Amino acid sequence: MLTNKSPSDGETTQRFLVTCDGCSFERTADGRENAAAIGDDHRRETRHDVVALEVPPSLGAK
Ligand SMILES: [Zn+2]
Repeated sequence: MLTNKSPSDGETTQRFLVTCDGCSFERTADGRENAAAIGDDHRRETRHDVVALEVPPSLGAK
């Protein structure tokens, strides 16, 4: 199979929804690093377990 992706097309920023198991905390973040930073922040402050879900671009555009 031939894939014809240009490098710049592959660089589209993924969007993540960071949610928490311990409370109603919910944040969206652009890029995995931002999502991880938000999750680490919340976990450090509250000791809650956070989960980052990848949001498909088609669903994120609203
Ligand atoms: Zn929490």
